[in-house]
Order: sequence, then C-alpha cells, then structure tokens
Amino acid sequence: MIEQINQAKIRLAGHAHRTPVLSSSALNKLLGAEVFFKCENFQRIGAFKFRGAFNCISQLNEDEKKRGIIAYSSGNHAQAVALVGKMLNIKTTIVMPNNAPEVKLNATKGYGAEVVIFDPETQIREEISESIQEKYGYTLIAPFDNKQIIAGQATAALELCEEISDLDSLLVPCGGGGLLSGSAIAAKSIQPQCKVTGIEPELANDAYQSYYTGKLVSQPNPKTIADGTRTASLGEITFPLIQKYVDAMMTVTEEAIKEAVRFHLTRMKIVVEPSGALGLAALLSQQFNATGKIGVIISGGNIDPITLTHILSGKS
Ligand SMILES: *Cc1c(COP(=O)(O)O)cnc(C)c1O
Repeated sequence: MIEQINQAKIRLAGHAHRTPVLSSSALNKLLGAEVFFKCENFQRIGAFKFRGAFNCISQLNEDEKKRGIIAYSSGNHAQAVALVGKMLNIKTTIVMPNNAPEVKLNATKGYGAEVVIFDPETQIREEISESIQEKYGYTLIAPFDNKQIIAGQATAALELCEEISDLDSLLVPCGGGGLLSGSAIAAKSIQPQCKVTGIEPELANDAYQSYYTGKLVSQPNPKTIADGTRTASLGEITFPLIQKYVDAMMTVTEEAIKEAVRFHLTRMKIVVEPSGALGLAALLSQQFNATGKIGVIISGGNIDPITLTHILSGKS
C-alpha cells in the first residue's frame, strides 16, 4: 500500500495543491502542546477528496474514460469527481442526496457534471447509482472503498509527516475511513512512533463501534452536522486497514464540533466545515489528551454560508 501512496504522490504533483501547515500560538498555549494543522480546506474543490479522485480516475483505461464515470456522494467526493472529470474530459454523473449542502450541489453542477438527486429517507444511493451505471456502462468511482482512492487521500498526511518531524500523534476525521486508513499507513511509514487517532461525531459513531467490537457496524443516515462523515459504515477495504494501522478511535459531540468551527474562524481566520473541524473538536473538548507534537488533518472547508452563520451565532 505504501508503494501505491508514493506513486499517488508522483501522479498528483502539479495537479493537486501542496496545502499549507498552520499553527495557532493561542491554541498551543491553551493546550500546552504543539499542534500542526494540515489545511486541506485549501485543496482544490476545498477538500482532500481531490487527491483520491484524481489518483483513481487518471488511471482508468481509454475505453473506461470514453464511456464515462459515476459517483454517489453527499458532497466533496462529488465535487472532486466532477472536477477531475472536467479536467480529463470525461462525461460525469453524480448521485446526490436532497439534503446535501447547497454550496456542494451548485459547485458539482458548476463543473459540468450531470446531477441525479435522491431522497436518503426512502432510497438507497448505491442502488440508484448501480442501476444508472449498468444502463450506460459508466465506471463507478467509489468514495472511499478503493485502494487508489485511499492512496490518493493518504498523500495529505504524507506531506504533513515529511514537513513536521517527530509527531507524537495524528488526528484524522473519519467517515468511510478512506482518509483515516490512508493517513495511518502514510504516517507510520515515515514516523512509526506517531499514534494515529480517528475522530467521528458521536451521532455517527459507527466506525468507533466497529473498531472496538471488531464487527462492522452500520448506521444509516446519521443526523450529525458533519455531513462529510454521514457515511453508513466503514468499507470492506478500509475497515481491516483501520484495525491494523489506527491506534484509537474517539467521538466528539455536536457542540464540540461547532465550537471548533468557531475557533478555526475567529482565532485562526480559516473557514473549516464541520467534518474538517473534528480534530480540533477532540482537542478543545479534551477528549484527546494533548501532549507533545500533534498533527491534525483539516479535511475540508465547504460550508454553506447559512450553516456557518448559525454556528457562529450559536443557533445551529
Ligand atoms: C469525505 C470527508 C471526510 C471523511 O472521509 P472518509 O474517507 O470518508 O473517511 C471527512 N471530512 C471531509 C471534509 C470530507 O469531505
């Protein structure tokens, strides 16, 4: 897997942004630790998902590229696949839930993808995309359970670990576990001492339960504000990787997530979406006991202005 991650790094050079690593002296003082944020909110499409999508789609054969691609996603994966489809001139169809944030929906359409909307209360997105896929011969670009997607996502942590030495720990948001599994493999290949912790919303704690029970737990359509982590369960590929490479799982409350979004904006002057703020939420709420040098992956920054306003005013 590490070989695939290193190849992904080469493939992404010149296409993905090398995102900055930021820190906050106010936060370091508050926690008595040194925290290094890898800012994937500044990645193309505003989230790390560009990395996996580009790594995966650019490797399709000519026939697959000619027929077209399809993806289902609550947002950032959709935008990533749509942008890469546009860059590589591939016909792209995206299946999205009717509760996806408006900014994500509009951005996906803006990249020229065809969008098919479904109701997550009554319809299963996998079934919808499978039926379209079979009808038109499109290639499905899975959101996380695909080795090339995982290898691409892993390059963010790889860059962080190349830049900041001697990390004691790394905190990574977890939905379907593509980012977390890849980050853990990448981090440990360069810094074996680094303890990797996956962070989930308490309201979507399926991965936490799966990790500690050893059985794949599924939780359909969870109600967390962190929409990037609303995936029902880990995947067949990501679950065993997480069991093998991740050191701990942790959950944070909705209030802690909102507090972290507020802190990112008001103290660090950066816009971070709720899913992207899970690492800071674990630190500020003292769920994670902060000591030494801590890396945090800020996974994305795509948040509806209205949701952001509600969070800032304490109403949402
Ligand atoms: C997709 C996403 C996640 C979760 O990533 P997985 O690979 O599904 O675990 C977290 N944060 C943001 C912003 C995302 O877009």
